[in-house]
Amino acid sequence: MIGIIAAMNVEMEGLRAHMENPVSETVSGVTFVRGTIAGREVVTAVCGIGKVFAALCAQTMILRYAPEAVINTGVAGTLTNELTIGNLAVSSCVVQHDMDTSAIGDPVGLISGINKIEIPADRTLIRRLCAAAQAIGVRALTGCIASGDQFVASPGRKTFITDTFSAIACEMEGAAVGQVCYVNQVPFCVLRAISDSADGSSHMDYPVFAQMAAEQSVRLLLTFLQG
Ligand code: SAH
Repeated sequence: MIGIIAAMNVEMEGLRAHMENPVSETVSGVTFVRGTIAGREVVTAVCGIGKVFAALCAQTMILRYAPEAVINTGVAGTLTNELTIGNLAVSSCVVQHDMDTSAIGDPVGLISGINKIEIPADRTLIRRLCAAAQAIGVRALTGCIASGDQFVASPGRKTFITDTFSAIACEMEGAAVGQVCYVNQVPFCVLRAISDSADGSSHMDYPVFAQMAAEQSVRLLLTFLQG
């Protein structure tokens, strides 16, 4: 069974429309819907916005459904000229750009306890997601995806994240899902369609682009599940 987590309904409803024999249960406020999509067993969840909800959802999903892998999908802001609205970012790793204990000597982004800044995504998932992107003719770039509890919409914050972590996209949940999967030894990958420029120049159009971008990641996931 593959676990698929999105933060918002708009990122999940297109995928769930393809689900056969759906069965729902709500645990800790998160509704998990399991069933089959393209003949594959999946469990899906809309976790809500930010790292806390994402972690809560990923941990509950792992304990309750024991998925063989977890994919976090949705939309993100771009951190590189190589990705524009509608393109896809596939995580090689995830970082938390708002994790910062540097005042006492740690490197910025260090997750104490596991002592890592970057949490690597699963190579097989990366390869299969990129192959699916190629199959549907959508541009996909692999690189680090940065998460934090803020909507990035200023040149200053965008530059900080890009310079500090060499990340290609920013969002608010992927690295939390990644950390939970890492400590539970469950393979994961983050797949995001670009909805905005993360510098404040396109955020007023965000709702429109988010809808469009979400449809792009749904299309890719359907191809991935068929593969
Ligand atoms: N109140 C709004 C909040 C949306 S936050 C709501 O409930 O719909 C934006 C979402 O899109 C988050 O889930 C985040 O992962 C993603 N996202 C898209 N562009 C982003 C950006 N530039 N910075 C951070 N997150 C972004």
